[in-house]
Amino acid sequence: MRGIYKPTYRVKRVWGISAQALKDRGITTVLADLDNTLVAWNRPEGDKDFFVWHEKLLDAKINLIVVSNNSTKRVKRAVKALGVPFESWAFKPFPRGIKKTLRDFDLSKDEVIMIGDQIMTDVAASNLAGIRSVLVRPLTVTDSLPTRINRTFAKLITKNNKGKWEDDLVDPK
Ligand SMILES: [Mg+2]
Repeated sequence: MRGIYKPTYRVKRVWGISAQALKDRGITTVLADLDNTLVAWNRPEGDKDFFVWHEKLLDAKINLIVVSNNSTKRVKRAVKALGVPFESWAFKPFPRGIKKTLRDFDLSKDEVIMIGDQIMTDVAASNLAGIRSVLVRPLTVTDSLPTRINRTFAKLITKNNKGKWEDDLVDPK
């Protein structure tokens, strides 16, 4: 059971994930959660850090797709500022949103990685879909109530499953 909550990588800051590290691992497309992973909960217009990081991915010919549990309306509005394609209503931790993204964008499991700030949704959905994942620390500490509840459960689940937080992707030994 605990296996589905184990991320492939743990990285302190999402912006620390380098295009080179992704390339070295055969990644052509990054799937990413939206809230608190790419945009701060209280800054929906996106941070300068996002645009700098995204530019580096594009330079390396790595695509970014937002995979969010939020409604189409909400995600559409958010990604408009970011300029990236998206999949809404992903229903993470269920793998269907990720699987649908792979179908819609004609991608194979081994060329993608999912980045997210929540073990209970982002990491679990990745493992159930059979793709690699990166757990990042949330951009802001303030969160909506359901997210706060999820994090409390996540703490219990990961009590014996703590890993080291790295600056970039570091392969597990
Ligand atoms: Mg999130």
